[in-house]
Amino acid sequence: MANANSPKSSTPLGQGVPPRVRFCPSPTGNPHVGLVRTALFNWAFARHNEGTLVFRIEDTDAARDSEESYDQLLDAMRWLGFDWDEGPEVGGPHTPYRQSQRMDIYKDVAQKLLDAGHAYYCYCSTEELDARREAARAAGKPSGYDGHCRDLSAEQTEAYKAEGRTPIVRFRMPDETITFTDLVRGEITYLPENVPDYGIVRANGAPLYTLVNPVDDALMEITHVLRGEDLLSSTPRQIALYKALTELGIAKETPAFGHLPYVMGEGNKKLSKRDPQSSLNLYRERGFLPEGLLNYLSLLGWSLSADRDIFTIGEMVAAFDVTDVNPNPARFDLKKAEAINADHIRMLDVKEFTERCAPWLRAPFAPWAPEDFDESKWQAVAPHAQSRLKVLSEITENVDFLFLPEPVSDEASWAKAMKEGSDALLRTAREKLAGADWTDPESLKEAVLAAGEEHGLKLGKAQAPVRVAVTGRTVGLPLFESLEILGKEKTLARIDAALAKL
Ligand code: GLU
Ligand code: ZN
Repeated sequence: MANANSPKSSTPLGQGVPPRVRFCPSPTGNPHVGLVRTALFNWAFARHNEGTLVFRIEDTDAARDSEESYDQLLDAMRWLGFDWDEGPEVGGPHTPYRQSQRMDIYKDVAQKLLDAGHAYYCYCSTEELDARREAARAAGKPSGYDGHCRDLSAEQTEAYKAEGRTPIVRFRMPDETITFTDLVRGEITYLPENVPDYGIVRANGAPLYTLVNPVDDALMEITHVLRGEDLLSSTPRQIALYKALTELGIAKETPAFGHLPYVMGEGNKKLSKRDPQSSLNLYRERGFLPEGLLNYLSLLGWSLSADRDIFTIGEMVAAFDVTDVNPNPARFDLKKAEAINADHIRMLDVKEFTERCAPWLRAPFAPWAPEDFDESKWQAVAPHAQSRLKVLSEITENVDFLFLPEPVSDEASWAKAMKEGSDALLRTAREKLAGADWTDPESLKEAVLAAGEEHGLKLGKAQAPVRVAVTGRTVGLPLFESLEILGKEKTLARIDAALAKL
């Protein structure tokens, strides 16, 4: 590979044909953020260019794929708000969209490639391949497949068969340099010695990703392949395969390719699927909004403008051009993701906000008994909470003082707020609060302020023990609004309980 800095071509759309792109995950494990970013860029590209998004399931690896993971993928796509024009549940002209249901197609194409001499049977055993690879390496030669079975004679083939060997099918790479213009990285060149012949069908007859992916891209008339950088090395192989498929009348035109940058996690290591930080479910459970998460993930390689980090998905679609994607690795920054999500939470209207919090106000997230939840208190407190949350799950600890029979007991908060003299202060505050106007948070503030003055304390210092007595915590929602919503009776009772404890 060479020359990653050459100019990028603009998206070759000019022919007036709307693009057809695909999102084609394998249903293995849980959906992860890398996958979501790929889906997002394909979706935004399709929508921006009024093209077609094909959702294809690459489930040809029976050992690793699972139905559970397939269901999770669809659920994730829906939660994120993506729609697709062809694929599972919506159908389309290239049905079926699950590769496990397309095996006859691949068998047929493999046979045609064999018949035309674009592929051949390779009888080499793993041990033989390993031994020759080692020898090549030791001799400082390219260590890929050495073409051993490219032109076996009929006798050699018979001899292998007689030994009981079962062959794989290998694609014959043309002995030529392959150059293509990546939509993200510019011109890329692969020399033939670096792209050896490769397997396309296993010895047991199962077709491999190397075959089924480009075959389906061809049959489904995909015009643009946007995918992660980890797949860059398969592109010269696929381009060669495409050429063969075109010759056979199976493919029309080789698609354009764009490889999205790596996402780096902690310690500047590639974020892997297995990294807990990369699990989409984690972000869902923590209460990321899909629009907040997508806004953040779009920044992994792309930006709307230098001075704007926060935008809606509609704004992204309107502006998205894959040739603007930056090829350099992008760093996944959880703090930034949360900050962006917080902005999206603030952008909701209050009603929407209260509705979206619903899952975290119930079991298993909420620690209070369902019957202790009070809808009118929730409606009253929600607007005060909205501007303070980074993720929706934080709502629970912010409002639990309203629904738990007693404030949570948090020793660290207690120790921090309850100092010498706190009991005297609390006694005065209780007295003044008892005489305050409980329909007006200002009046409650006056009461605590006045109590503080009597003890030589500023408001901040005076309200800390009150907050801990009533909510259990040193930080939380605006205190006097919180007290008003909790109500006079409970507030005073909690101060009494704290005094008893002191
Ligand atoms: N099923 C492949 C994967 O999930 C798709 C790769 C591609 O986009 O070509 O890695
Ligand atoms: Zn061989």
